[in-house]
Amino acid sequence: EENGVSTMQICYKEESEQQNLSENSCPLPEIPEKPLKPRSYQLELASPALEGKNTIICAPTGCGKTFAALLICENHLTNNPAGQKRKIVFLATQVPVYEQQESVFKKYFERLGYKVAGICGEIAEDAPVECVVDNNDIIVLTPQILVNSIKSGTVRSLSVFTLMIFDECHNTSKKHPYNVLMINYLDQKLGRSANPLPQVIGLTASIGVGDAKDKFEAIEHICQVCACLDASVISTVKKNVSDLEQVVYKPEKLFRKVESQPVNKFKFVISKLMEETENLIEKTFKEYDLIPEYQLENLSQIQNRVFGTQKYEQWIIDVHKKCMLLQMEDKNKERKICKELFLYTSNLRKYNDALIISEDVRIQDAVRYLKEFFREAESFDETEQYLIHQFKEKIQELEDISTDPRNENLKLDELTFILEEQYHQNPETQTILFVKTRALADALKKWMEENPKLSYLKPVVLTGRGKRNQNTGMTLPSQKGVLDTFRTSGENKILIATSVADEGIDIAQCNLVILYEYVGNVIKMIQTRGRGRARGSKCLLLSSKEEVIEKEQINIYKEKMMNDAIEEIQTWNEEVFVRKIHHLQLQEKAIRDNVIVAKPQLEENNKRLLCRKCKVFACHTADIRVVEDTHHTVIADAFKESFVTEPHPKPKDFGSLKKTGKIFCAEPSCHHDWGIFARYKTFDVPVIKIDNFVVEDVATGLQTLYSKWKQCNFKMIPFDAREMSN
Ligand SMILES: [Zn+2]
Repeated sequence: EENGVSTMQICYKEESEQQNLSENSCPLPEIPEKPLKPRSYQLELASPALEGKNTIICAPTGCGKTFAALLICENHLTNNPAGQKRKIVFLATQVPVYEQQESVFKKYFERLGYKVAGICGEIAEDAPVECVVDNNDIIVLTPQILVNSIKSGTVRSLSVFTLMIFDECHNTSKKHPYNVLMINYLDQKLGRSANPLPQVIGLTASIGVGDAKDKFEAIEHICQVCACLDASVISTVKKNVSDLEQVVYKPEKLFRKVESQPVNKFKFVISKLMEETENLIEKTFKEYDLIPEYQLENLSQIQNRVFGTQKYEQWIIDVHKKCMLLQMEDKNKERKICKELFLYTSNLRKYNDALIISEDVRIQDAVRYLKEFFREAESFDETEQYLIHQFKEKIQELEDISTDPRNENLKLDELTFILEEQYHQNPETQTILFVKTRALADALKKWMEENPKLSYLKPVVLTGRGKRNQNTGMTLPSQKGVLDTFRTSGENKILIATSVADEGIDIAQCNLVILYEYVGNVIKMIQTRGRGRARGSKCLLLSSKEEVIEKEQINIYKEKMMNDAIEEIQTWNEEVFVRKIHHLQLQEKAIRDNVIVAKPQLEENNKRLLCRKCKVFACHTADIRVVEDTHHTVIADAFKESFVTEPHPKPKDFGSLKKTGKIFCAEPSCHHDWGIFARYKTFDVPVIKIDNFVVEDVATGLQTLYSKWKQCNFKMIPFDAREMSN
């Protein structure tokens, strides 16, 4: 077609089965009165498993895979001629999915007189897993709990179960808890243990193809997944395709290639500032004679960096970390240099963010982003003041550029056009717009609200739960709150989301999915596309970059490759397939057994925590106490002098802690964010985050960075109220 617009029919699939359970699209909105009437294709999907075979069920979500699983479970429990005890475990990786499945299984099976119970990560600590497993017929779990219970011996072995079901089973690889469980299973199987092993069922919308470049490599990858799950059959819908098509809609996929800005004056100015800042880093290295070990080009593996790209972001993170670990004989000198480098690299990262924003949204959004950053960075530090000054000198020029209509972003015009057209045709449209970063989501929301043509859309933002760039992600309840509003109010017509597809969130039915410069792997593609489930829905990729469109086309090609590979495997004689799987399992086991896993030794040595920005001494690790396994406080009296407290902008309770303030490095020229001040029981305690510190070994002087407490290998003592009262 013309104007770089091409249309493509693609098969519609989606990620999370739970979506159709909470809405009215499929057979399981409410659990109907018995007898259940399965659709023909659901029986087809379930049939190999009903014969007792280990099966991967691969079918588009929204078609009721969970319903097939219920049939399999019911058959497993009732069809039990030998009278032996049967026990089923259903595993789900995501908490929202877990909640959904637990209630579906409870409703369905308790009516039949079976006992169902669930344990998920958040309540696992006090739950008597052994007792729950002993006393119930069906147990719904997040997989890590079972991994822990097997490891600790609370659950003797997987042989206590007679059927295991893995939801989203494509995750079964490497160190994922699914694979840890299956390795345990396979060791038992290949070790010829006398104990019977459970039947294994996997559910997925897409097995994936890994890095496969052709059908043969795809077949290898899929066989590998089957070997991990000990599956002898892949079950897909083949006979009852037309019945499936009545339930599952195939949306249209469109590509829109937009011209990029011919001249980008904003990019020119910011790039100059970035060059200058990079030069300052080099100058520091030279001045302190750190060359040749410290040379910008050697601090990261990443080569050929370009300003304003994700690659540059990766590069600057590497450099930032290396600079923080720089060590010198003269400790005062080290502190001074480290702080300078901290500031330079932090600034470079913000400038890079701003360039990405200016490419995808308005230049004024990028300017606002930078102004906010420099406003927060109020300091008496010389270097910092210099950097702020450098930026302030350019503000006027940047603002002039941002208000010049010639610099308007063509991509936004295209987006406006698409939205206006869609809402003109169908004012009831619900749209989901996927973007790469949280900063972009916020900027696009602002742009829509300020655009009179689009302000009626009343956008809402949904971001992931993961933590990135020091920004805390949304919590599960706040995500659910946003989605509820979006679903029920009818006021908000558009949801702007970052990558949440893999978090098992139930997103409302949308009829327009826009991927805004957004592309991932093939599994993610199938997941995001699945968000538009309404009949007549469209999925549209908007990008100015040839490589983004190419990547998505490769994903579509990979999906076809996957389907072809599955079809080919299904033509094989089952015996041949089982032999191949067995061979792969033996190979993997041989590799596993030869790898000597060095257990990380818990270090007893006392270590120092230094401020990550100015490297001033903060405390010793021996003075850290752990509150309820998750929070870390410092009990040394001297520590109280090293930080300053400010009231918290959003005081809040989380768990048994009441957040009252924020704490910062007490060095007047540093003021680095260290964590929070909180009330715990009757104590006021500082709670620190390890990613704000550098850890230095007292004996060796070796410095290490940790981003999470979990990664720390030093000994930590639990908080004890008696110790505090002494
Ligand atoms: Zn500091």
